[in-house]
Amino acid sequence: MSAPSDVKGRLPGSGRAVVAGAGVVGVCSALYLQREGWNVTLVDPDGPGEGCSFGNAGLLADTAVVPVATPDILASVPKMLLDPMAPLAIRWSYLPKLAPWLLRFLAASRPSRVEEISQALATICARVFEDFQPLIADAGAQDLVQRRGYLGAYRNPAKLAGMRWELALKRSRGMKAEELGPEELRQLEPALARDVVGGYFLPGCGHTVNPLALTQRFVAAFERLGGTVRRARVVDFTDFGEDGPRAVVTDGGQLLCDLVVIAAGAYSRTLAARLGADVPLDTERGYHTVIADPGIQLRLPLMCGDGSFGITPMATGLRLAGTVELGGTEAAPNHRRLEPMRAHAKALLPGLKVEGGTQWMGRRPSMPDSLPVIGRSPQHRNVLLAFGHGHLGLTLSAPTGRLIADLASERTPAIDVTPFRPERF
Ligand SMILES: Cc1cc2nc3c(=O)[nH]c(=O)nc-3n(C[C@H](O)[C@H](O)[C@H](O)COP(=O)(O)OP(=O)(O)OC[C@H]3O[C@@H](n4cnc5c(N)ncnc54)[C@H](O)[C@@H]3O)c2cc1C
Repeated sequence: MSAPSDVKGRLPGSGRAVVAGAGVVGVCSALYLQREGWNVTLVDPDGPGEGCSFGNAGLLADTAVVPVATPDILASVPKMLLDPMAPLAIRWSYLPKLAPWLLRFLAASRPSRVEEISQALATICARVFEDFQPLIADAGAQDLVQRRGYLGAYRNPAKLAGMRWELALKRSRGMKAEELGPEELRQLEPALARDVVGGYFLPGCGHTVNPLALTQRFVAAFERLGGTVRRARVVDFTDFGEDGPRAVVTDGGQLLCDLVVIAAGAYSRTLAARLGADVPLDTERGYHTVIADPGIQLRLPLMCGDGSFGITPMATGLRLAGTVELGGTEAAPNHRRLEPMRAHAKALLPGLKVEGGTQWMGRRPSMPDSLPVIGRSPQHRNVLLAFGHGHLGLTLSAPTGRLIADLASERTPAIDVTPFRPERF
């Protein structure tokens, strides 16, 4: 191992960067750092994109400006606690550990806070396609990404009525969000049931037909351009100098570094704490099933409004993905949570064959205010943090990568990153 390059005074424009975590966020950060001339090593005990990034609904939801904790959330808490099948459920056994996160989550649902969070999300969402474009081009991944819009459909009139303020919030941010009646919806998606009462169309949204393949394609480009992927777990940091650690300790040896990026998804909290950032990161567990032979072909990705999950046509089949279970990283999955999703999907799409799909549970890395952490460690100048993207990790991965590269080069970031700073709590 050669000596680290000089990090005194200012960070080098190029040097050795170690990115902990090869989910879609870590991979996009690695790609943007590489484009700036950094010599980047991605470290992950598992294959790239096999964590939470494996199983999402694939949406590039550039109109996602509504936080999870909305002003009406307090009224839902009893149901969250009593019904383990609810779209948003809490595991009793995890409640004592969750309590501080949950209080912050509820605090973030104040109307004034929702307005601020929504503004911050709008600024980063505005960059989604611009920042993905060069990465997709370099990786030759055009076949994996489509931009044809996103439909939402409801059979329950009360849920439809409850959704209208979300559309209004999107429009207030200058986004296109059209409310549609049942006939207009069925013209766009003929597979929808006759008893659909209404919904929406978000024409700007995109999706990937294979989230895992997209991350893998990005990693192949990263390696082609000289990047290194190491199968190892980051366990600590050492050789602290003026700017922070000069070496990353893994279970497979040490890596010298001039810059460290923590992008370990739901597992980032301990690593960040070791590097001077105490962040209230927890996890929102989500579920999916992929039905290889669904008996119908959807034209567009679809939000099942009644069950609050996505139904996305993917290369591997039709994927039903979503819902939230607050239960920590360690508890075993409760795949019975897929049953109400299958029932809702079948009612919305009567031709759908729901039997025989795969089952998966993933851990969204989630902050209580629905905003990611993108910023510098308050203690160490050569440590950058990129995690906590919750429901939007795929969508915001490329903009996050670009911002990480801006911060690494000590440039004024493309957008104001103050709302994402790690020390905001
Ligand atoms: C059901 C569901 C549906 C979703 N739908 C969407 C959607 O449609 N659109 C969207 O934008 N987002 C969606 N999301 C959210 C999105 O998938 C996540 O926000 C995103 O995958 C997070 O990416 P990440 O890179 O931060 O984390 P991950 O993909 O989890 O990657 C973190 C990586 O860090 C590694 N790691 C952990 N500990 C260490 C360590 N000590 N050292 C080194 N590496 C380590 C892990 O092995 C893992 O590979 C959905 C999530 C779920 C669960």
